[in-house]
Amino acid sequence: MVVSWMWPGIMNCSDPPEYDMLDSLLAVQQLVISAVIVTAFVATKTLVDNFRRRQAKLTAVVVGAGPVGLSTLMVAARSGRVTRVLLYEEQSKMQLFNQPHQIALDSRSAIFLKRFGVDFDNMEGCWDGGCFFTRLGVFQEYMLSIVYRLPVPVEVRLGTKFTRDTCKELESIGGRKLVLACDGANGQTVRHLGISDEYIQHSCRYYGAVAALERPGLCQIPLRERCANNLHFDLTAYGADNLDVDGHQGFSLKIFGTSRHRYMSLLIPKCESPLVKALRVVLDRSMMRNIFLKCFNTYKSDSESSLGDAFALKHMKFSPRLFEVKLSQRVETAAYFQDTDTFVVAEGEAARCYNIHTGRDVNIGIQGLHSLPEFIDRAAVCDSEHTILSTLSFKSHSAEQVCKDFLRHGLRDHILKS
Ligand SMILES: Cc1cc2nc3c(=O)[nH]c(=O)nc-3n(C[C@H](O)[C@H](O)[C@H](O)COP(=O)(O)OP(=O)(O)OC[C@H]3O[C@@H](n4cnc5c(N)ncnc54)[C@H](O)[C@@H]3O)c2cc1C
Repeated sequence: MVVSWMWPGIMNCSDPPEYDMLDSLLAVQQLVISAVIVTAFVATKTLVDNFRRRQAKLTAVVVGAGPVGLSTLMVAARSGRVTRVLLYEEQSKMQLFNQPHQIALDSRSAIFLKRFGVDFDNMEGCWDGGCFFTRLGVFQEYMLSIVYRLPVPVEVRLGTKFTRDTCKELESIGGRKLVLACDGANGQTVRHLGISDEYIQHSCRYYGAVAALERPGLCQIPLRERCANNLHFDLTAYGADNLDVDGHQGFSLKIFGTSRHRYMSLLIPKCESPLVKALRVVLDRSMMRNIFLKCFNTYKSDSESSLGDAFALKHMKFSPRLFEVKLSQRVETAAYFQDTDTFVVAEGEAARCYNIHTGRDVNIGIQGLHSLPEFIDRAAVCDSEHTILSTLSFKSHSAEQVCKDFLRHGLRDHILKS
């Protein structure tokens, strides 16, 4: 006999309350078991992922022992993601250490490099206005002397050019690789690896001219930068009447370099004033030489002796006329090659350079390295198409930003405001 039982408000419910309760309990039990399984799966996956992320490492290959290459090496070796570093440099130790010209690291670059173990107190050079001035060869010698203190093994291959054949050698290295091409403005490394050599030329909206002076009898002592703004030149002696009286902002001048190798940069915001037109169009070497000679004698440091005409004629090289200042930016600065599991990045002048010396040229390269620690971290860990693409776009975006910042402030910060 079927006993029919009715729950108030529910019609035709034939099961007794105990059965319903049992069903509910079973359902809850199933739900709990599923939740436990899912939680355990998620927790294990998170643990495994975290472990894999912590363990993810790569081999870094740095090409070029210029100031940017050596700084890149420090960043890579201290990233915690790199198991070993290979450094290729085509020049010999002697050639590197004898590089005569001065480099000036601005305060931002100096602070950045200190974070990666660069001790400026132990490097020959001097501080002035927050910048550290040293000779390029001294910087390279110091940096190479500390690579053996780094937490990972560094194999330094001086006198070894990175060529197409080297690319094939890299394929024999197991695991993920990161090639950091820091081989300067004429470097070919990224091209060997298959990245396009396309550049965008940005106008810096300035005209400029440069001069270099060598005084063979003097030693290479770093000297302070000398700057002057709003200069106007009287060129009436060259038959150029009234060229200066046009109300435009004048030239900015910077004198920099060591006591032996002195450089001068002259800049004026892009305009078509009669004076600027004359200096851009008329090729009169004596006019430009006289401008640089007068500039040097007026704004040199007190300890320096004045230049005579005959000396300038023999020892001063200069641009014969004003040219447009441009920043060349490599279009592709980061890439990934799946077949060899290799990331490639261009840094320093291999990524961007401009056609005038500012006395602080190296800083735009160091600025590019600010995004490197995060990039290396991401490059070691990424494992899907999506994460690889976002890693590359992070680096490209940072490289783009460095150029934008330079176009907005760079020349003013490096020359005009010094
Ligand atoms: C005459 C002169 C005066 C300057 N004065 C100043 C100044 O006063 N202040 C300042 O801040 N900057 C100055 N600079 C600029 C400064 O030197 C550069 O901005 C800086 O050196 C760029 O650094 P980088 O590491 O990107 O390239 P680089 O210094 O050019 O280094 C590239 C390195 O890569 C190596 N290399 C190239 N191809 C290969 C390859 N295939 N295999 C292996 N190695 C390779 C090269 O031998 C080189 O050592 C001056 C430059 C010059 C030329």
